[in-house]
Amino acid sequence: MNLLVPVDIWKVLQASEISILKKPLKSNISGMFLKKGFVKLVLINTSRTVGHQNFTGCHEYFHLLYDQDDKKICRAGEFDSNDSNEREADYFAAYFLAPDEALEFQVERRLKGKRRALNIADAIALEQMFGMSHQAMLIRLKEAGYIHAEEEEHMRSRVLTQALQLGYSPDLYLPSNENAIISNYAEKAKEALDKGLISQGRYEELLLEAGLEELVFGLTEREEERDETIPL
Ligand SMILES: [Zn+2]
Repeated sequence: MNLLVPVDIWKVLQASEISILKKPLKSNISGMFLKKGFVKLVLINTSRTVGHQNFTGCHEYFHLLYDQDDKKICRAGEFDSNDSNEREADYFAAYFLAPDEALEFQVERRLKGKRRALNIADAIALEQMFGMSHQAMLIRLKEAGYIHAEEEEHMRSRVLTQALQLGYSPDLYLPSNENAIISNYAEKAKEALDKGLISQGRYEELLLEAGLEELVFGLTEREEERDETIPL
C-alpha cells in the first residue's frame, strides 16, 4: 500500500468500468447508483462539498460492489442512518479513503514521536491529505481511537475558517458545482453489440440517447413530454 498518495476514488471507479455522472442538483441528496443492462453508474451531486463528493463516490462504490439492489438514492455520511446498508456504505467509505495503516502513518508523521492529543489542525491536515470531508475524518479518528466523542464534537465547527487560517485551499469544503461525464459508455455499447448482447437497432438507439444523463433523468423527462402531447 502506498501510504502517501490518497485514494483517487474517481480513478478506482473508472478502472472498475463504473460510469460517473457529476451534476449540481437542487436536492441535497449525496448521489445515487444505478445498474441497468451493461451500465453501472454513480451520480454525484456537485452542489455538495468536494470532500463530501469524494466520500459519496466511495459510498456508492460499496453499493455497486456488494449490493443486490440495482438502484438507490443516498444521503451519505450520516453514519447513524436507520438503514444498516447505508451505515455499512458510510463506514466502508471512511475506511476506504483512510485505511488504518495509512491513517496511522500520517498521524505518526504529525506527532513526530511526541505523545499529545490530536487537535483541530491535525484533523484538518489529515482530511486534506486523504481528501475527505471534515465530518468523515472526525468520525474516522474517533473510530480509530485517536480522539474522544467530546473532542469530535468540539472540533466540528468553523472548519473552513480554520483551514484558511492554516493556509489550505478551501476547495475541499466547498461545492464544485461541476458538470462532468466520465464514462466508457459508448465503448461498452459497442462491446455489447459485438458480443451479440444487443441488436444493431438497440445499439443505435443507445448512442442516440447518448447516454447516461438520459438513463438517469431522461425517463421522467420523456414521460413529461408524452404527457404534454396527450390530446385533450
Ligand atoms: Zn447509500
